[in-house]
Amino acid sequence: MSEDKAKLRKGILVSFEENFMNHSQNERSNYQKRMDEFVSRQEKLCWSKSNIAFCHNCNSDKVLYQKLDFPLITNNKRFKSVKLIGAVCSRCGEEYINGQEVRHIEETVKLINSYCSEENNDVEPSVSYCDVCESNNFNNVDLEVFLISINSKIISIAIQEDYCKECNAVFYADESDQLAMQHLRYFFLTV
Ligand SMILES: [Zn+2]
Ligand SMILES: [Zn+2]
Repeated sequence: MSEDKAKLRKGILVSFEENFMNHSQNERSNYQKRMDEFVSRQEKLCWSKSNIAFCHNCNSDKVLYQKLDFPLITNNKRFKSVKLIGAVCSRCGEEYINGQEVRHIEETVKLINSYCSEENNDVEPSVSYCDVCESNNFNNVDLEVFLISINSKIISIAIQEDYCKECNAVFYADESDQLAMQHLRYFFLTV
């Protein structure tokens, strides 16, 4: 078994993250450092007071940052949702998303659509042969892919891809999904 295939067997997110990493030790520790900073920035924000002084709906002054899931409406049905930090009123539940994050979601939708064609929109498993374990027993899985950034409150995107029920190897349903995710990750590295 090749090294890449052995890595695939380790499981879902590991193999996805590996795709985007250069294999040198330096790149690896840079990536880990950026990921750690990114996660600790998000954790610090959660449950702290947001920049919304008063809720427009109920006038409460307790509007706190929280993680929110926001459905993604694109031409590719496999891109399900985006997780981000928004502000939520503790009294009435009204949700607020900053202008920067609204723009980042708009950019994300535009980018996903630019890689999408009508033929690659299927949510049924499209892979039928596992070249890791030679099984043909496939199912769908929702993957969370992180979008590491400098300042954005966008955290990750959930996408539906195919996985082998025998060995858990994950395969992109379509190459355009992989290209769109790579492009998105590069985009977020600069914002
Ligand atoms: Zn409120
Ligand atoms: Zn397999």
